[in-house]
Amino acid sequence: MDLRARIFVAGHRGLVGSAIKRTLEAQGFEHVMVRTRDELDLLDQESVTRFFAQERPEYVFLAAAKVGGILANVQYPADFLYQNLTIQTNVIHAAHVFGVKKLLFLGSSCIYPKFAPQPIREEYLLCGELEPTNEPYALAKIAGIKMCEAYNRQYGSNFLAVMPTNLYGPYDNFDLESSHVLPALLRKIHEATVHKAPKVEVWGTGKPRREFLFVDDLADACLYLMKSFDRTDTAPFVNIGTGIDIEIGELATMIKRIVGYSGEIVFKPDMPDGTPRKWLDVSKMDRLGWRARTALEEGIQKTFDWFLKQQQLIV
Ligand code: GDP
Repeated sequence: MDLRARIFVAGHRGLVGSAIKRTLEAQGFEHVMVRTRDELDLLDQESVTRFFAQERPEYVFLAAAKVGGILANVQYPADFLYQNLTIQTNVIHAAHVFGVKKLLFLGSSCIYPKFAPQPIREEYLLCGELEPTNEPYALAKIAGIKMCEAYNRQYGSNFLAVMPTNLYGPYDNFDLESSHVLPALLRKIHEATVHKAPKVEVWGTGKPRREFLFVDDLADACLYLMKSFDRTDTAPFVNIGTGIDIEIGELATMIKRIVGYSGEIVFKPDMPDGTPRKWLDVSKMDRLGWRARTALEEGIQKTFDWFLKQQQLIV
């Protein structure tokens, strides 16, 4: 990938897209194209086609998606299915029609079966039933991977997909209803500290295990693949994670320490736990020569610093 290559980052305002844009610019790429939702509605096929016809991107990072935590997925299954299927179909097909050299599609580790053997290898895709709380989202993402695979096979495209584990970092969604667990706990525990609240509620039993990857590490992995990895006919996708997971209860304790909160953590078992464990086997990425760098504690600290800075800007 030449530093003058025409690169489209779809979804540049989100957690992943913003990190990819940051990383591309830091590495000196001169032609990074982005569009806000008002400028380009990715749900509208005609607009997407027009954009590709005019701008002729050579490389595409497809990070635009409807995403959310466990509650948002349960409340808005139709939105998760419709918006994700539509966005990815429009962009992947346009990438084919306009001869994009390489496209990288952002999947998710929730595509794997609920009770997949741990750690989860890429080949466990479609070997069992999905976790019901995020089945619509997972089905859309599976369709996206299969679409990359089908276009590679039928048209000789060079479309790749990555399956990141649970992500966190700057520009995450900190809304308590729709966010994922890590930003939710950072915010809840910070607010409890500020208001001297005696306890913080953590959903579920605290027993599920999750693996968390700092988003700048994911962006680094995406660029690494874009530069050095080409499609294969059958499995153009790779897991990206740290190889280390943690119980939600332990995560809460770690965040408590980072934020400096001295109150109590209480669990709310009436809220859903979701899948019991989602631990990725990252040996494929390891063999390709890439490893995550940021330790969880360090990543949470950076995210917390960013969050505090944002709060000061808002006040
Ligand atoms: P998931 O990985 O798709 O299940 O997504 P989440 O990040 O939303 O949830 C991960 C786990 O954290 C689940 O077991 C949740 O029940 C648990 N959890 C605990 N407290 C919270 C919270 O305040 N918000 C969210 N989203 N999850 C929480």
